Amino acid sequence: MKIGIMGAMREEIEPILELVTEIDTEIDYANNKYYKAKYNDYELIIAYSKIGKVNSALTAATMIEKFNIDLLLFSGVAGAINENLKIGDLIIATKLCQHDLDITAFGHPYGYVPESKVFVETDEKLNNIAKKVAKKLNIKLLDGIIATGDQFIADNEKKEWIRKTFNADALEMEGASVGFVCDALNVPFFILRAISDSADMDAGFDFDKFLEGSAKNSAKFLIEMLEELE
Ligand code: SAH
Repeated sequence: MKIGIMGAMREEIEPILELVTEIDTEIDYANNKYYKAKYNDYELIIAYSKIGKVNSALTAATMIEKFNIDLLLFSGVAGAINENLKIGDLIIATKLCQHDLDITAFGHPYGYVPESKVFVETDEKLNNIAKKVAKKLNIKLLDGIIATGDQFIADNEKKEWIRKTFNADALEMEGASVGFVCDALNVPFFILRAISDSADMDAGFDFDKFLEGSAKNSAKFLIEMLEELE
């Protein structure tokens, strides 16, 4: 089985490269680096896409179309909306949407484009494996809705709007784009995030302070999940 492991930023992928010791090759493709590695009996393709929906969609599509991955696991950080999520806590997405997609002028709901849908759902089997790992290791793991957009949210009003409009628990800048690509190309996918900030006034400051630690939390959990995959 070939597994794609993706993050958006170097800090999200470096801890994974450190934990996966057998790295065979680095491939330069489409302004990015893809690392081929082995873990147990799995072939891995590892990359960080760079931030945002376009970059992450390109990386996800490349992993599927060029490297033929069978499933995609995303690890990274996010801003919390749900008050139960504190810095460092983990959340898995049950479904994701694009909060910055707006053709409401034509009577459509926020996040909707014709011939598509507002929410894309993650793979239930992968989510169940994550829950099993969390239980085994006694780690707090929430599941919920993640909203994606090409904006770093550091504003209570915007955050509240996203909560209200999409019933979202966390927000970030890549999950939904990766999800829609995987969904269209029939590849099961999984989105894991550790909280780096609360998308409020202090978000910029918190993000810088907690990025590294939270990214590591997420990466470590993802590697634990590899042990439980079949
Ligand atoms: N400081 C970085 C930019 C970080 S953008 C730089 O200068 O390069 C934020 C990244 O973390 C994105 O990849 C996004 O997915 C995630 N993220 C964490 N908190 C977020 C928030 N409050 N709003 C949007 N994205 C957030």
